[in-house]
Amino acid sequence: MTTRRSEDLFEQAKQVTPGGVNSPVRAFHAVGGNPVYIDHADGAYLYDVEGRRYLDYVMSWGAAILGHNDADIREAVIAAAGRGLSYGANTEAELWMARIITEITGVEMVRMVNSGTEAVMSAVRLARGFTKRDKLIKFEGGYHGHSDSMLVKAGSGALTAGTPDSEGVPAAVAADTLTASYNDAASAAKLFEANPGQIAALIVEPVCANQGVITPREGFLADLRALCDQNNSLLIFDEVITGFRLGLAGAQGAYGVKADLVTYGKIMGGGLPVGAFGGRGDIMRCLAPLGGVYQAGTLSGNPVAMAAGMAALTKLRREPAIYDRLNSMGDVLREGLRQILKDARLTDAATVDGTASLCCLFVGRERYRAFFQKMLSRGIYLAPSQFEAMFISAAHTMDQMRETLEAAAWALK
Ligand SMILES: *Cc1c(COP(=O)(O)O)cnc(C)c1O
Repeated sequence: MTTRRSEDLFEQAKQVTPGGVNSPVRAFHAVGGNPVYIDHADGAYLYDVEGRRYLDYVMSWGAAILGHNDADIREAVIAAAGRGLSYGANTEAELWMARIITEITGVEMVRMVNSGTEAVMSAVRLARGFTKRDKLIKFEGGYHGHSDSMLVKAGSGALTAGTPDSEGVPAAVAADTLTASYNDAASAAKLFEANPGQIAALIVEPVCANQGVITPREGFLADLRALCDQNNSLLIFDEVITGFRLGLAGAQGAYGVKADLVTYGKIMGGGLPVGAFGGRGDIMRCLAPLGGVYQAGTLSGNPVAMAAGMAALTKLRREPAIYDRLNSMGDVLREGLRQILKDARLTDAATVDGTASLCCLFVGRERYRAFFQKMLSRGIYLAPSQFEAMFISAAHTMDQMRETLEAAAWALK
């Protein structure tokens, strides 16, 4: 295996971009070695600049749920691009997109933005404006993008780097973000009690997927709903990962708990940069131009991005059997990995968690490093961090699950 070209590109990139990357986890600091440079992707595979093929479990961090370069999405993008790339004015595509999202998820109104970070940042401001309160509750290890108030005990890249609290976040801003323990509703209840009438919103990843994957305990999400109701605070579900993945209706559908505001990203853009936040009509109507909470975006609702998102969501709605296949592959992968841990007598030091098409093999930072490199050498591309999920797409197959398990058994021996 030669990685000369990837190494050369990375060296050059480091001269002009901090760390050579546009998002920290891509630098491979947590797993060592040189990051792979991608030339193109198709279906379940990535191809690097040296023509090497990898079975991909990052899938653009879950955005590519239909597989890379899905033909329907690609055609929709090409058709939209033929009519111009951006207008900064209204289009019918935005209306379609808002309609399909409200129909699928049950949110009453929705607004488009350009990333998950932006969706969360906007939802948080809206919650504060609506409740006229400043404080927020989030969970330790919960990742909600990189806006100031959310970089407090955050997961994902922040956890990987070992610096959960970013420099540059004003202490006064961080002070309004209180943190509870995930799957421990009593820890959130204590924060509500200690701050009566001050909590604008509680935000949660319904399934934690940025500190490994942790599924909610029975009743946990319903308890959070009840706590928010008792305190006249808003419940925000950050469904940037779970939205359109745990089934069409996301975590709200899968767990039967309704949030007041919901944020989306990743899958809903079909691979283009799109996010959205939505929820109760009375809350959403507080946004400008109707209300006093300001929020805007030059490229929000971009016609090419809307076309990609529409194609993705339309296909997922038209073919609900996709979810059965995705979830079966998830079950096989999780079950197989658990068996491998047992066989390798690693069950004390390691666990497998996840649900639907999300999976995480947790073996600890040091062991993961070696595991990642061995899997890479077998042509399997895992997240370059222990704290991220494996994402299965509709382009993956059962045979590939078995191939992956076989490689994993060898890599963990
Ligand atoms: C990825 C992610 C975000 C941030 O989305 P970006 O598009 O990367 O800004 C927010 N919340 C969750 C749960 C995420 O997984």
